[in-house]
Amino acid sequence: MKPRIVRANEGSTKLAPADKFVGQVLQDQVFVPEDPSRLRVTRVTFTPGGRTNWHAHAVGQILYVLSGTGRFQLDEGVVQEILPGDTVVIPPHTRHWHGAAPDQMMCHLALSETDDSGAATDWLEPVSEEDYTAATG
Ligand code: MN
Repeated sequence: MKPRIVRANEGSTKLAPADKFVGQVLQDQVFVPEDPSRLRVTRVTFTPGGRTNWHAHAVGQILYVLSGTGRFQLDEGVVQEILPGDTVVIPPHTRHWHGAAPDQMMCHLALSETDDSGAATDWLEPVSEEDYTAATG
Protein backbone atom coordinates (compact mmCIF):
# COMPACT_ATOMS: atom_id res chain seq x y z
CA MET A 1 0.00 0.00 0.00
CA LYS A 2 1.62 3.22 -1.21
CA PRO A 3 0.64 6.65 0.04
CA ARG A 4 -1.04 8.59 -2.77
CA ILE A 5 -4.16 10.34 -3.94
CA VAL A 6 -6.13 8.30 -6.45
CA ARG A 7 -7.78 10.83 -8.72
CA ALA A 8 -11.41 10.52 -9.72
CA ASN A 9 -10.56 10.42 -13.42
CA GLU A 10 -8.20 7.43 -13.12
CA GLY A 11 -10.97 4.86 -13.02
CA SER A 12 -13.83 4.07 -15.33
CA THR A 13 -17.46 3.38 -14.59
CA LYS A 14 -18.54 -0.22 -15.18
CA LEU A 15 -22.00 -1.61 -15.79
CA ALA A 16 -22.83 -4.06 -13.01
CA PRO A 17 -23.16 -7.67 -14.25
CA ALA A 18 -26.68 -8.78 -15.21
CA ASP A 19 -26.28 -12.14 -13.44
CA LYS A 20 -25.97 -10.35 -10.07
CA PHE A 21 -28.11 -7.22 -10.50
CA VAL A 22 -31.52 -6.29 -11.94
CA GLY A 23 -31.75 -3.18 -14.10
CA GLN A 24 -29.06 -0.62 -14.91
CA VAL A 25 -26.54 -0.37 -12.10
CA LEU A 26 -23.19 1.45 -12.35
CA GLN A 27 -20.06 0.68 -10.32
CA ASP A 28 -17.04 2.89 -9.63
CA GLN A 29 -14.18 1.39 -7.63
CA VAL A 30 -13.11 3.79 -4.88
CA PHE A 31 -10.52 1.47 -3.33
CA VAL A 32 -9.42 -2.03 -4.33
CA PRO A 33 -7.79 -4.10 -1.56
CA GLU A 34 -4.04 -3.63 -1.16
CA ASP A 35 -2.16 -5.84 1.27
CA PRO A 36 -2.39 -5.83 4.25
CA SER A 37 -5.82 -4.20 3.95
CA ARG A 38 -8.76 -6.30 2.82
CA LEU A 39 -11.07 -3.32 2.48
CA ARG A 40 -12.94 -2.81 -0.79
CA VAL A 41 -14.92 0.38 -1.35
CA THR A 42 -17.24 0.74 -4.33
CA ARG A 43 -19.59 3.57 -5.25
CA VAL A 44 -22.72 2.00 -6.69
CA THR A 45 -25.35 3.97 -8.59
CA PHE A 46 -28.71 2.26 -9.06
CA THR A 47 -31.07 3.72 -11.65
CA PRO A 48 -34.80 3.61 -10.73
CA GLY A 49 -35.86 -0.03 -10.29
CA GLY A 50 -32.23 -1.19 -10.16
CA ARG A 51 -31.23 -3.53 -7.34
CA THR A 52 -28.88 -6.30 -6.37
CA ASN A 53 -29.88 -9.96 -6.43
CA TRP A 54 -30.30 -11.55 -3.02
CA HIS A 55 -26.80 -12.10 -1.62
CA ALA A 56 -24.74 -12.50 1.56
CA HIS A 57 -21.28 -11.26 2.56
CA ALA A 58 -18.68 -13.45 4.27
CA VAL A 59 -17.70 -10.79 6.82
CA GLY A 60 -20.68 -8.46 6.43
CA GLN A 61 -20.99 -5.14 4.63
CA ILE A 62 -21.45 -1.47 5.41
CA LEU A 63 -23.48 0.72 3.07
CA TYR A 64 -23.41 4.52 3.25
CA VAL A 65 -26.09 6.26 1.22
CA LEU A 66 -24.80 9.29 -0.71
CA SER A 67 -27.83 10.40 -2.70
CA GLY A 68 -31.30 9.51 -3.90
CA THR A 69 -33.91 7.20 -2.37
CA GLY A 70 -33.15 3.53 -1.82
CA ARG A 71 -34.57 0.28 -0.56
CA PHE A 72 -33.07 -2.44 1.58
CA GLN A 73 -34.38 -5.76 2.87
CA LEU A 74 -32.81 -8.25 5.28
CA ASP A 75 -33.81 -11.87 4.71
CA GLU A 76 -37.52 -12.11 5.54
CA GLY A 77 -37.75 -8.64 7.08
CA VAL A 78 -39.75 -5.69 5.81
CA VAL A 79 -38.45 -3.56 2.94
CA GLN A 80 -36.95 -0.39 4.41
CA GLU A 81 -36.37 2.97 2.80
CA ILE A 82 -32.76 4.23 2.98
CA LEU A 83 -31.81 7.87 2.53
CA PRO A 84 -28.66 10.01 2.15
CA GLY A 85 -26.52 9.91 5.29
CA ASP A 86 -27.91 6.55 6.42
CA THR A 87 -25.42 3.78 7.31
CA VAL A 88 -26.69 0.24 6.81
CA VAL A 89 -24.93 -2.50 8.81
CA ILE A 90 -25.26 -6.00 7.34
CA PRO A 91 -23.86 -8.86 9.48
CA PRO A 92 -21.90 -11.80 8.01
CA HIS A 93 -23.79 -14.55 6.15
CA THR A 94 -27.07 -12.62 6.16
CA ARG A 95 -29.30 -12.71 3.05
CA HIS A 96 -30.29 -9.24 1.85
CA TRP A 97 -30.64 -6.94 -1.14
CA HIS A 98 -30.29 -3.22 -1.75
CA GLY A 99 -31.24 -0.90 -4.58
CA ALA A 100 -33.00 2.21 -5.80
CA ALA A 101 -36.63 3.13 -5.28
CA PRO A 102 -38.91 2.29 -8.23
CA ASP A 103 -39.04 5.92 -9.39
CA GLN A 104 -35.77 7.35 -8.06
CA MET A 105 -32.06 6.61 -8.30
CA MET A 106 -29.88 5.80 -5.31
CA CYS A 107 -26.12 5.99 -4.89
CA HIS A 108 -24.26 4.36 -1.99
CA LEU A 109 -20.76 3.50 -0.94
CA ALA A 110 -20.36 -0.25 -0.32
CA LEU A 111 -17.57 -1.26 2.09
CA SER A 112 -16.65 -4.90 2.51
CA GLU A 113 -13.77 -7.27 3.17
CA THR A 114 -12.86 -10.85 2.32
CA ASP A 115 -12.57 -13.53 4.99
CA ASP A 116 -9.43 -15.55 5.76
CA SER A 117 -10.11 -17.83 2.77
CA GLY A 118 -10.62 -14.93 0.36
CA ALA A 119 -14.40 -15.31 0.17
CA ALA A 120 -16.41 -12.11 -0.16
CA THR A 121 -19.97 -12.45 -1.50
CA ASP A 122 -22.37 -15.33 -2.21
CA TRP A 123 -24.73 -14.31 -5.01
CA LEU A 124 -28.24 -15.76 -5.01
CA GLU A 125 -31.49 -15.36 -6.96
CA PRO A 126 -32.92 -12.07 -8.30
CA VAL A 127 -35.32 -10.12 -6.08
CA SER A 128 -38.88 -10.77 -7.24
CA GLU A 129 -41.12 -7.87 -8.30
CA GLU A 130 -43.38 -8.85 -5.39
CA ASP A 131 -40.56 -8.45 -2.85
CA TYR A 132 -39.18 -5.34 -4.54
CA THR A 133 -42.49 -3.49 -4.67
CA ALA A 134 -43.65 -4.48 -1.16
CA ALA A 135 -44.70 -1.51 0.96
CA THR A 136 -41.70 -0.05 2.78
CA GLY A 137 -41.79 -0.26 6.58
MN1 MN B 1 -24.83 -6.32 0.11
